[in-house]
Amino acid sequence: MLLRPFNFHTPNSLESAVQAYGKLRDVKLQAGGTFLLNSLKTMKRKGVKTPQHIISLAHIPELRGIEDQGDCVVIKSMTNIDEIYDSPLLTGNLGVLRVAARNISSQLIRNMATLGGNLTCRYTWTEMPAVMVASRARMHFVGVDGKEEIVPAEDFFKNAAKTDKIFTHVSIKKDDGISFVYYRAKKSVHVDIPLLSLCVTTRLVKGKFSQTIVAVNNGVAFAQRDRKLEEFLNGKSPGKTLAETALEHLDAAIYDARGTDYKKYMFRVGIKHILRDLTEKHR
Ligand SMILES: Cc1cc2nc3c(=O)[nH]c(=O)nc-3n(C[C@H](O)[C@H](O)[C@H](O)COP(=O)(O)OP(=O)(O)OC[C@H]3O[C@@H](n4cnc5c(N)ncnc54)[C@H](O)[C@@H]3O)c2cc1C
Repeated sequence: MLLRPFNFHTPNSLESAVQAYGKLRDVKLQAGGTFLLNSLKTMKRKGVKTPQHIISLAHIPELRGIEDQGDCVVIKSMTNIDEIYDSPLLTGNLGVLRVAARNISSQLIRNMATLGGNLTCRYTWTEMPAVMVASRARMHFVGVDGKEEIVPAEDFFKNAAKTDKIFTHVSIKKDDGISFVYYRAKKSVHVDIPLLSLCVTTRLVKGKFSQTIVAVNNGVAFAQRDRKLEEFLNGKSPGKTLAETALEHLDAAIYDARGTDYKKYMFRVGIKHILRDLTEKHR
């Protein structure tokens, strides 16, 4: 299906993108385009007005790449999912990004889809949001006034991932003392989008878990923390019965939200898997 005509803008600096974004009305940003172009077609099919202007972020060097900045790693918004999977800089606690990236869709999508698109597209099932929440990532934006805003990922997703700014990068602190586990369940064998995903980060202090974050993506709401499970895990030692006992300490509202019996069951399977993995890591 042909798209309705629009003006396609290709700024080659962040400054000119910000200027265009501030000046134009009826405008959308394009990153990899894997969701945007499809949603323009859907809008046309439904008879909904499509935007007159698209600003592509593809030719802005400031928005590409992964940088080691000493105590933290910065991942720019136009870095694609395959570049994340391939990056030698994502080690230690940052290795969780590579684990999540490896499982996202197909190679074709991973080559095009960007971290920025994954975090700001406002589809509740994409996987990087839970990873960012569990990694205490900070999300950086630039507004049309040129000012930078920094928002913890947890707050961004609590606010339903709304923004009228350009997302530029995430920064994540390096910390080899933090271990992680990640789990995702497929929705179906045909369309590889996740039914649910879970990401846990924790630190073992004197043989006990501490500062644990359990980030849950239930596909219905934006990524959120299960504080009840975190409270249960903190102070516990890795052990054989931990995974089973933990199931008694879930924030049921998160896992049962608009869920089928299968999905509720898969959440419990997922929790058991990741807590067993976590225990194995610390044996
Ligand atoms: C077939 C298919 C399967 C997929 N499977 C998975 C999966 O298994 N797991 C998973 O996590 N994801 C999956 N995805 C999602 C994919 O990883 C991308 O996140 C998604 O396609 C959007 O990325 P994009 O770069 O193409 O964004 P675009 O389509 O270009 O943009 C999406 C939206 O984000 C906004 N946006 C993009 N960048 C910025 C920015 N820098 N600042 C502000 N707003 C911005 C755009 O305006 C637009 O509204 C899948 C996608 C497809 C098409």
